[in-house]
Amino acid sequence: MVEPDLRRIERPASKLPNVGTTIFTVMSRLAAECGAINLAQGFPDFPCSEELVELVSRAMRAGHNQYAPMEGLMALREQIAGKTERCYGHAPDPVTEITVTCGATEALFAAVAAVVGPGDEVIVLEPSYDSYLPAIELQGGKAVPVALRPADYSVDWPEVKAAVSERTRLIILNSPHNPTGAILRAEDLAELKAIVSATNVLVLSDEVYEHLVFDGEQHRSLLGDADLRARSLVVSSFGKTFHTTGWKTGYCVAPAWLTTEFRKVHQFLTFSNFTPVQYALAEYLKEPAHYQNLPDFYQAKRRAFGECMKATPFRLLPSYGTYFQLASFDHLSNESDVDFAVRLTREAGVAAIPVSVFYRDHTDHRVIRFCFAKRDETIEKAAERLSRF
Ligand code: PMP
Ligand code: GLN
Repeated sequence: MVEPDLRRIERPASKLPNVGTTIFTVMSRLAAECGAINLAQGFPDFPCSEELVELVSRAMRAGHNQYAPMEGLMALREQIAGKTERCYGHAPDPVTEITVTCGATEALFAAVAAVVGPGDEVIVLEPSYDSYLPAIELQGGKAVPVALRPADYSVDWPEVKAAVSERTRLIILNSPHNPTGAILRAEDLAELKAIVSATNVLVLSDEVYEHLVFDGEQHRSLLGDADLRARSLVVSSFGKTFHTTGWKTGYCVAPAWLTTEFRKVHQFLTFSNFTPVQYALAEYLKEPAHYQNLPDFYQAKRRAFGECMKATPFRLLPSYGTYFQLASFDHLSNESDVDFAVRLTREAGVAAIPVSVFYRDHTDHRVIRFCFAKRDETIEKAAERLSRF
């Protein structure tokens, strides 16, 4: 057989020349290679509800195994509308304003693709979740990073205001915030409103950790504010809420005119997602306790993690939401956070995420991110290993 001469193929320029493999894959792979406890990539190591598994099996046995509607199963969209009303005092229209997606990742990509064009500027707050920048770049958009204040990762609104230009199309927000655990408060939404009100700037609000807010604080969804939701695409994910990150089911809520554009992309990106899960979630969401219990559940995890970590030399930073907590190692090492995280995985047998990867210029404050969505035994074992490091 004659081998094809691959040198003759002229390769197109990479559309994402600066993108490598996502840090979540890199660290999970390294953790597996080293037999390390994986506190890096964010996913629970405990099972999801048996009832939910049973509901999915039942949907499959009942024959719900063909394409779901492109917009998502109506019964699920109705439950999402009901949950939104219960939580934020506003029920979006399930027909025109809610779309079920393949996880939040698809929703974020489709939202950016729907509204960002070549030359458009998108303000992102750094550290920022790693899927935002590539989505912007692939549309020919220009990311304009604004750093969260390093002391407490609060939003520097004067800096955001200064970053808004004639070309600003979108601001991307994420609360509760990955990786820092910071949350937006009522004052933040007031500041945002003042900045965007006289502009055509749209907002993409990544609220996948909406039900993981601690200390009696409330999640401030953009859907709870009439002015802001009129210009926003709000994204969430059942992966976080129901301990099912592998089911990749999320959704996007946006006004009808934005949803129309969103669905134009979604229908050709994935068309629809896994049907049996949509039937199961439509049923499971009828019981609000399933998500209302979540803050207590994860607050106990945060407490367990905090207690165990006292035996280690790390300095924990506050976590107000999400299932992540940052830890400073500035007093322990001069290494970059990437080198330190790799060494920690290899030598201590505990994997974490270096936070510099969430900055376009790799700003390194020598902090790493731990995920505490783990069984108590896992947390104890990890802390024990870290205390010997
Ligand atoms: N946004 C943020 C802030 C996340 O942490 C994640 C990760 N899980 C996602 C989006 C993606 O969610 P999904 O797994 O539902 O695609
Ligand atoms: N959101 C998860 C995290 O921050 C990872 C998601 C992924 O691996 N794509 O760890």
